[in-house]
Amino acid sequence: MSEQKPAVVPFLGLRPAPSATRPRDERPGISEIAPDALRGWITERGLPGYRATQVLDAVWRGTAESFADVHTLPATLRDELDGAFRFDTTIEREVRATDGGLTEKVLHRLSDGLLIESVLMHYPARVGAKERHTLCISSQAGCAVGCPFCATGELGMERDLEMAEIVDQVRHAARALAVDGRRLTNVVFMGMGEPLLNLDRVLAAIEALNDGDRFGLGARHITVSTSGVVPGIRRLTALGPQFTLAISLHAARDPLRDVLVPLNRRWPVAEVVAAARDHADRTGRRVTYELTMIDGINDTDLDADALAELLRGELAHVNLIPMNQVAHTPWTGTPLPRVERFAERVRAAGITTTIRYNRGTEIGAACGQLAAEHAGQPTPIVVRRRRERIVAESAAALRGERSHEPVPAGVGER
Ligand code: SAH
Ligand code: SF4
Repeated sequence: MSEQKPAVVPFLGLRPAPSATRPRDERPGISEIAPDALRGWITERGLPGYRATQVLDAVWRGTAESFADVHTLPATLRDELDGAFRFDTTIEREVRATDGGLTEKVLHRLSDGLLIESVLMHYPARVGAKERHTLCISSQAGCAVGCPFCATGELGMERDLEMAEIVDQVRHAARALAVDGRRLTNVVFMGMGEPLLNLDRVLAAIEALNDGDRFGLGARHITVSTSGVVPGIRRLTALGPQFTLAISLHAARDPLRDVLVPLNRRWPVAEVVAAARDHADRTGRRVTYELTMIDGINDTDLDADALAELLRGELAHVNLIPMNQVAHTPWTGTPLPRVERFAERVRAAGITTTIRYNRGTEIGAACGQLAAEHAGQPTPIVVRRRRERIVAESAAALRGERSHEPVPAGVGER
């Protein structure tokens, strides 16, 4: 069972870049060029259409790491492509394996120097289950939502990722797996950032990953985790395919959720659950509700009963994840016996509930934590003020008071 182990092995080689250190490379990433646009670019140059198919194959299926590696193309075309597009938008990487090689954390450097993370998890085959390789990816450098238990939230917002920067995390993992004849089976948007606040690019990335002419991953194998951006959930649902939705709920009661997930002040619990219910109805897919369990804060019987009441009869699945000790919070994760007691009360209402131990906790916590370490330590006084504010806000929430704090900047007004 889960003994608390250090969640992070620091990356030693890449130098810190808490904020952008150089101008961005203006060439678009080739992976964000839609197939039709690429065909147009090829025919404008008087080249035959099959060249576009060769480029698409090299971008989405091959093991090439640059245009120079794509030997099916004439050298002049390779040079021209390289002048117009970036083959890869993540320019430098460090990979560190943990869990005896079952988890690989990757720190990617972007063209302007910012660092983002992805985590590749290997699940060996078991009786009745094939092997799986799941990649957790980032959608933003930093995050504006500011959940007080999250390392990315503490970093604040740097910038939205480009569509190519999102999918290139996936291409990198797929290439690494292909070398050993393995395939990426699942992609989850549970890394740095709030995917549905970088909505257009994330939806474009999802479409590219799902498109049979590009990455070709089935919709059911793509999970979007959101802290509850209601208009974004509705646009994801409207796309049509059966993408999996995970809601980072953390609390069923609004006063507490106002503090744990500050955008609850904009889109409260009932609105989030209503949008999730529509997603389940339209796609037939069970929605996952994630709860990061924080000792003495959101893990009481009262919280379990409120959750059971909220989700009774929904097409829902609950995932309980003891909080990993990250960020500068005054809190610790809920001890396992209490997580199990909480799970039992929710199950009693007929709601499937699982507890995610080590690896699960590492995913959420690892994403953002490394980048936060690279950003350097805040001063002790800043940490003390942050803790005092969090304690005061959560104490008021536990008395049932709604937050008087504004909606975080970049999330929308109340
Ligand atoms: N912004 C999106 C997706 C990225 S966060 C969202 O919030 O859903 C991915 C998951 O990691 C979320 O469920 C989040 O609550 C969880 N997480 C963040 N910090 C954590 C921590 N310290 N311990 C455990 N889970 C954490
Ligand atoms: Fe942003 Fe998700 Fe972290 Fe909250 S938990 S700060 S929404 S990344």
